[in-house]
Amino acid sequence: MKGIPRLRLLSYGVIAYMLLAFAWWSVLLFTKNRDAFAAKRELLHLVMIAREEINTDEDFFKSKPYLELEQSYKRQEWMVLGEALVFVISLVIGVWLINRGYNKQVMAAQQRRNFLLSITHELKSPIASIKLVLETFRKRKLRDDQIQKLSNNGLKEAERLNTLVTDLLLSAKLETAYSPYMEDLNLAELLEDLVYKIQDKSPKAQLHFHHQTNISDMHGDKAGLTSVFINLLENAIKYSSGNPVIHVSIKQKNNHIQIEIADNGIGVPDKEKEHIFEKFYRVGSENTRTTKGTGLGLYIVKEIIKAHKGNIQVKDNLPKGTVFCIELPVEKINKTDDQLLEEQKINQA
Ligand code: ADP
Repeated sequence: MKGIPRLRLLSYGVIAYMLLAFAWWSVLLFTKNRDAFAAKRELLHLVMIAREEINTDEDFFKSKPYLELEQSYKRQEWMVLGEALVFVISLVIGVWLINRGYNKQVMAAQQRRNFLLSITHELKSPIASIKLVLETFRKRKLRDDQIQKLSNNGLKEAERLNTLVTDLLLSAKLETAYSPYMEDLNLAELLEDLVYKIQDKSPKAQLHFHHQTNISDMHGDKAGLTSVFINLLENAIKYSSGNPVIHVSIKQKNNHIQIEIADNGIGVPDKEKEHIFEKFYRVGSENTRTTKGTGLGLYIVKEIIKAHKGNIQVKDNLPKGTVFCIELPVEKINKTDDQLLEEQKINQA
């Protein structure tokens, strides 16, 4: 990483040299062209005087051979100018493309580094906690309540590890072989259940659920959409300090179901909004972040919503916090061949 700025400096130097050299060559070409024109004009003048075709300078400047010579000179001048412009424009576009590619590479490398650092930490810390619990069980005689408490901690850590591995597998699958298992779903019921589950797990947070009655059933992948809502609800709590207040609402507008998850947390800066759905992307760096995570959650969310032909947006909440708005179509989505085959098998059985 240390060599990259030096490399960039070197490439800027080369580009600056190319531009200067080109400007110099263009000026030289202009001068040479002008000198050649002056020499040709002198020669033509002498020839025409010798042939007694002209008497005065005015006759010369109005003569056909001179006008043709002047036209050819101007044409050449425009040609040099045109070439120079095309070259400069191509160079600028080329440099811009290289720069953009380079910045993308640097960002991807940074994200990979962040991901490796966070994943190592995320994997190691539950393993260490579970190891500690087991070692305590082995070495010490514990009371029932202590056993209960330690087992709960161990189970929590195991669950964290499981979620992480599931996320990793799901994100790999989303890139290649994800085919949602579509079934009839009542999204309002699913969301309400999850809100209660998360509320149980996080007593410090206040979750409010608002829903319109008569929301149509939709066709969706229950496991996938569950993962979407859990990710968004857990993020809403994770990225809020103190006592988070979260409003979850669901309503239907024509053929679309709209879901909003609004928190009063730290918010997402405007320049980060377009990046947070990228794989492994986390706001800030490993040194400045205080929260745990891998940057996979919102990538999974976006891909699953996309597979349902829906869309997701992130907005600012007022006075502070973030709102994630999801829109999902109600109309039925065609089942995949695998699903139809599976249903056929079930019917035959
Ligand atoms: P992770 O939470 O593992 O970092 P995510 O993909 O879920 O990964 O989120 C990506 C980034 O988006 C997070 O690092 C965080 O900075 C930001 N983010 C996500 N949800 C919220 C939220 N509700 N409030 C503020 N920032 C958020």
